[in-house]
Amino acid sequence: MKKARNEMTLVFLSRSANEAFSRSAAAAFFSQLDPTVEELADIKTAVSEAVTNCIVHAYRDRLGKIRLTARIYEGGEIYIQIKDSGCGIPDVKQAMEPLFTTCETGERAGLGFAVMQSFMDKVSVRSAPGKGTTVTLRKTLNARPGDEAAG
Ligand code: ATP
Ligand code: MG
Repeated sequence: MKKARNEMTLVFLSRSANEAFSRSAAAAFFSQLDPTVEELADIKTAVSEAVTNCIVHAYRDRLGKIRLTARIYEGGEIYIQIKDSGCGIPDVKQAMEPLFTTCETGERAGLGFAVMQSFMDKVSVRSAPGKGTTVTLRKTLNARPGDEAAG
C-alpha cells in the first residue's frame, strides 16, 4: 500500500461518552484536508456507527479498548480503521445485510453497516469470533481549490 502522508491513532475505552469523542477527534484530524461540511458529516456518521458497534456489540457486557487509526493519502484519500478485541462476528456477510441485527430489544435497526456503506466509498470488515473485529472505511474527498499548494 502507498505511504500515508499523515496518520494518527487513538485508543479509548468502550464508554458511550467516547462515541462523540472519537467522531469529533476523527473530524478534527481530517479537517486539515479542508473537507466540505457534508464530507465531514459523512465521516462523523460512519465513525460513529462503527464505534457504537464496538460499544454495544463487541463489548456488550464489559468495557474494552477500541483503537481508531486515521490516515491521509495523496489525492484526498482517507482511511479509517476501527478495531476492537470483543466478541467478534460469526457471519460478516449476514451482519452487513441491511436490517440484520442481533439486538433483541428492538432498540437497533440493523442499519449501521448500511449507513457506513452509503457514506463512505468502501467498507471492509474482518472478524474472528472471540477475538474481535476490524472495520476499515475508505473515501476520497473531492479536490478543493488550492490543494496542490497544500503541504
Ligand atoms: P443499528 O446500527 O441500526 O443501531 P445494529 O448495530 O444491530 O443496529 P449494524 O451496525 O448494521 O446493526 O450491525 C449488524 C450486526 O452486526 C449487529 O447487530 C451485531 O450483531 C454485529 N456487529 C456489528 N459490529 C460488531 C462488532 N464490532 N462486534 C461484534 N458484533 C458486531
Ligand atoms: Mg450498529
